[in-house]
Amino acid sequence: MNTISKYDLKKKTTVAVQLPGTECLIKPKVPLSNLTSLRVGGLAQWYVAPKNWQELEASLEWYQSQDLPLTVLGAGSNLLVSDRGIPGLTIGTRHLRYKKIDFERGTITVGAGEPLARLAWLAAKQGWRGLEWAVGIPGTVGGAVVMNAGAHGQCIADCLVETSVVSPQKMELESLDVTSLDYQYRSSILQNDPRLVVEATFQLEPGFSPTELTAIVAKNLQDRTSKQPYDRPSCGSVFRNPKPYAAGWLIEQIGLKGYQIGGAIVSQRHANFILNCGNATADDILKIIHHIQEKVEDRWLVKLHPEVKLVGEF
Ligand SMILES: Cc1cc2nc3c(=O)[nH]c(=O)nc-3n(C[C@H](O)[C@H](O)[C@H](O)COP(=O)(O)OP(=O)(O)OC[C@H]3O[C@@H](n4cnc5c(N)ncnc54)[C@H](O)[C@@H]3O)c2cc1C
Repeated sequence: MNTISKYDLKKKTTVAVQLPGTECLIKPKVPLSNLTSLRVGGLAQWYVAPKNWQELEASLEWYQSQDLPLTVLGAGSNLLVSDRGIPGLTIGTRHLRYKKIDFERGTITVGAGEPLARLAWLAAKQGWRGLEWAVGIPGTVGGAVVMNAGAHGQCIADCLVETSVVSPQKMELESLDVTSLDYQYRSSILQNDPRLVVEATFQLEPGFSPTELTAIVAKNLQDRTSKQPYDRPSCGSVFRNPKPYAAGWLIEQIGLKGYQIGGAIVSQRHANFILNCGNATADDILKIIHHIQEKVEDRWLVKLHPEVKLVGEF
C-alpha cells in the first residue's frame, strides 16, 4: 500500500487536516474563484493560508510528507486559474502579515502577505518617499516581489533591499539581495522558482511632507481609476507591453475593445484588460487571450506575451 507518513489522503480527501501544534487547517477542495481577482477557476485540491512562520513551517512539513505538487498564491491578482482547479497543495500567503519599521534607516520590513497598496499609503503618511506608484495594485508584497510589480515608471526593483525566501524542500530561509533577483520588466528569477517569498525589506527616503506624499498617492489612484476598469473582476494588464508599444494600444487599434466570449469581455476602457462580466470561465478568458494574440500578430507582426500567470491544468 502506498502509505503517506502522517496523513492518509485516501481517507481524508474531504476532511480538513489540522497541522500539529497549530490552529492552522489544510482544507480540501477550496474554490479558488473566491481567492483570485478574476473570480474564475476551479478548486484547490488542498489549500492552506498560514498566518505566521510556525504555521508556514508546519504547512511545508505536511507538503514534504506528501507526493503532491505545490502552488503559491498571493492575493491572486495576476493569476488565471484553470476551471479544472489546481492539483496538490496551494499555499496562500495573504495572511502572512507583519511589519517592522526602522526609523533610523528608513526601511520597512513586511511579511509576504502585506497588501502592497496599503504599504504605499503607510509610507506616504510617514513622509517616506518611494512607494507612491504602488497604490491601486491589488496584490501582496510577495506577489509584487516575484512579479516586479510596477507603475508610473517605477517598480519593486527600485526600492527593494532584500527578500527572505524559503525552499519548500529544504525548509531553509535565505536572504536574497535585490541584485541577485535579476529584475527585468515584470520579471525576476523567482518566477518559475519553487521558493516562497516570506518577507521583504524596502528602503525608502524619509523626511518628506506626509501631506504632499499622500496627495501624490491619491492622484496616482485617481489617474488609475479614471483609465482602468476597477468595477469588474480582472487581473489588471493581461499582456506585457512589447516595448516600444503599449499592448492596449495595439489591441484597441484592431477594434477588439468589447470583444466577448462567454462571460469574458475586452474592456471598453482599457483594451489590455479582460473583464469577467459575472459568469466567465477561465476557458472563456484563455480563448480571448489566444484570439488577441492571433489578431495582433496578424496585424502588427508582434507577439504578445501574457503577464498573467496561468495555473492549473488548461
Ligand atoms: C485591477 C488590477 C490592477 C493591476 N495593476 C497592476 C499594475 O499597475 N502593475 C503591476 O505590476 N501589476 C498590476 N496588477 C497585477 C497584480 O496586482 C500584480 O502582478 C501583483 O504584484 C500580484 O500580486 P499577488 O499577490 O496578487 O500575486 P498572485 O497573483 O497571487 O501571484 C503572482 C505570481 O507570484 C507568485 N507568488 C505570489 N506570492 C508569492 C510568494 N509569497 N512567494 C512566492 N511566489 C509568490 C505566484 O505563484 C504567481 O506566480 C493589477 C491587477 C489588477 C487586478
